[in-house]
Amino acid sequence: MYQEILNEIYNEVNSLDCLGKQADYIPELAKISSDKFAINLTELSGNNYGVGDITDKFSLQSIAKVFAFTLAYRLKGSAVFQHVGVEPSGDPFNSLIQLEQEQGMPRNPLINAGALAICDVLIDELADPEHDLFDFIKKIARNDAVTYNSKVYRSEKNTGFRNRALVNLMKSFGRINNDTEAVLDLYFKLCSVEMTAPELSKTFLVYANHGKIPETQEQILTNSQTKRLNAIMQTCGFYDEAGEFTFRVGLPGKSGVGGGIAAIHPGKYAVAVWSPMLNPKGNSVKGMKALELLTTKLGWSIF
Ligand code: GLN
Repeated sequence: MYQEILNEIYNEVNSLDCLGKQADYIPELAKISSDKFAINLTELSGNNYGVGDITDKFSLQSIAKVFAFTLAYRLKGSAVFQHVGVEPSGDPFNSLIQLEQEQGMPRNPLINAGALAICDVLIDELADPEHDLFDFIKKIARNDAVTYNSKVYRSEKNTGFRNRALVNLMKSFGRINNDTEAVLDLYFKLCSVEMTAPELSKTFLVYANHGKIPETQEQILTNSQTKRLNAIMQTCGFYDEAGEFTFRVGLPGKSGVGGGIAAIHPGKYAVAVWSPMLNPKGNSVKGMKALELLTTKLGWSIF
């Protein structure tokens, strides 16, 4: 059933006029072909269904913030919420205004300021932050080959002026312990992680399975922590479009400016979509449409 539905969605969405544009503020991402499009769904059982450009790796960008937060939450428990809040920002992902008004405390871990604060926590907590963070991502991905794209990493490191402003603003409020360039470096590597759509949906299964890796039942987050993280994805995963995504799709998920979106239906499946053409809020136009059609055609969402 899933495969036919994905094929139908692929054809319907591909026939729409594609509005939007690539994330050209990261020059390397502006080079990705605009007509790339992939949809992949993995059931908890491991059954996999995909259509389109499912063998292409794409830049996860902000989707990878979920992995950094998962590791920080696992290491620090509820104390992680001394560093980030759990409220939607209602602001663009890289906005500085709210951060100034709220004394450098990021609204949530899924906006840039929040993910930078989480990278700072990881540098505090881990013996070898880059190595240990990537080891953790490999573990939840069940894939030792996961790595970051060094061209995308360098491209963003050279042009990441707003992220530099965000981390320095937080540092001025005493909220960043480590050297700001070290925090940015880990953050840019995290954002440049790349995966195919099937690899991404497989990785997100842990959030659909109450925090356990499906094959081994190894607990990565507790049931309650997973509920909370999924709630943060639902309310904050799409920045100032989190309401719109919830309204149209009805699943917890996370987008990135590489054009990917990962979403989960707890107890059922994880799904990853990728199309690099973004709307003005930085979310994939075709990706959002594809997921809206998925929950509409299946007749199930979490609501
Ligand atoms: N690396 C990007 C940035 O920091 C991530 C933003 C995103 O995917 N929304 O601007």
